[in-house]
Amino acid sequence: MSTVRTAMVIGGGIAGPVTATALLKAGIDARLYEAYPGPSYNIGSGLALAPNGVAALDIIEAGEAVREIARPISKMGLSVGGKDIFMPGLSGLEPLQLVDRGELHRALHDRAVAAGVPIEYNKRLIDVVEDESGITARFADGSTATADALIGADGIRSTVRGLIDPDAPGPEYLNMLGFGAMIDYDGDIEPESMTFAFGKKAYYLYGATGEGQVMWGANLPHKEYLSLTAARAIPASHWLSILRETYAEDTPGGEFARRTTEEQLEVVGALHIMPSVPHWFRGRMALVGDAVHAPSNSSGQGASLAIESAIQVARCLRDLPTPEEAFATYERLRRGRVEAVAARAAKANHSKTLGPVGRKMMQLLAPVFVRMMDTEKTMGPEQRYRIDWDAPVYKELAKTA
Ligand SMILES: Cc1cc2nc3c(=O)[nH]c(=O)nc-3n(C[C@H](O)[C@H](O)[C@H](O)COP(=O)(O)OP(=O)(O)OC[C@H]3O[C@@H](n4cnc5c(N)ncnc54)[C@H](O)[C@@H]3O)c2cc1C
Repeated sequence: MSTVRTAMVIGGGIAGPVTATALLKAGIDARLYEAYPGPSYNIGSGLALAPNGVAALDIIEAGEAVREIARPISKMGLSVGGKDIFMPGLSGLEPLQLVDRGELHRALHDRAVAAGVPIEYNKRLIDVVEDESGITARFADGSTATADALIGADGIRSTVRGLIDPDAPGPEYLNMLGFGAMIDYDGDIEPESMTFAFGKKAYYLYGATGEGQVMWGANLPHKEYLSLTAARAIPASHWLSILRETYAEDTPGGEFARRTTEEQLEVVGALHIMPSVPHWFRGRMALVGDAVHAPSNSSGQGASLAIESAIQVARCLRDLPTPEEAFATYERLRRGRVEAVAARAAKANHSKTLGPVGRKMMQLLAPVFVRMMDTEKTMGPEQRYRIDWDAPVYKELAKTA
């Protein structure tokens, strides 16, 4: 039986609201603290949630709301040298769900509020003090809050990670900047598809969203690291001219870049991964989501894994007597899975930055690879993973022992 009655969740992105809602479901009084002044509903750009992520959302009754705002993606394609090759999907699974990031934030936030999670904005965590009776968070506005446990869902630049371990690694820049746009496009695009395209100079991806619209994302090679603020301070016209030049010879990438307007262009910012984090928890504090495991965006699993971890940490706090035992169990359940996904994504990432010879080889070999690819073997374990919320955690531990 848990001794944890109250918890603070730091960060109101994707993992935060899911963690807080799951904690309430577990009988733990959870409160969420977000650094920004309000919910981020207009952050643009899209992301694809995998069936495992949507199934985890069903546990907190948020799956349906997300399906309602999403576009189903039932086919995944690879485009090399303008030729599309579609991969066989996994049988018996619901399609991936392509959602607008801001809309997803809204759906998860609304679900947390409906479940009864109090959310406080303008609360940037800067420090903690822990003792035998609890943990006290100190915020930048001078206020404090105390609970039995604290969960850091504060993203890839996590403050909680540094409070757990001052020597924790930071995010690794992938030498690429991300851009996204939803544009009008009436060209020939396979319905309900998401295509990963290896252009002549850079990688990009696109999804058919129906009704003559396409959501596309560019991964622009960029050696110099730019913070999001710095990248957004540069006029969109500058970025558009670079994107048009970079994708000029690609089909359909060149057309996407030409059609994208300054208003439509969303600067997503520097692309990162989190290297393996040695300490996921300390005492009454633990990490979830990008704060502890951000695979590259090539994985298509970042948000889905964040959601799974959010549910699992709540389940462990429900079933184990102390925060430390709960967090150790949580790490045991999660580390192997998230590191396996990160390793697969790292391989895919490598192919995004190939030189001219590598790209030529890719063009020749990709059709063979796709034909030989065993999607069940590569994607099956990722997408078929399900959490049994009602089962006591010790039963699952017995399986992983
Ligand atoms: C270009 C791109 C494309 C992607 N595409 C996909 C995809 O298709 N599918 C997929 O599954 N994933 C995708 N991802 C990954 C996905 O976006 C992340 O894995 C996900 O957002 C992680 O959620 P999170 O809640 O852990 O972190 P975040 O969403 O970053 O939320 C962290 C929150 O914490 C707050 N915060 C930070 N510091 C503090 C503090 N000190 N105090 C209080 N609050 C704080 C922040 O303001 C923020 O609201 C993509 C990522 C990128 C960059």
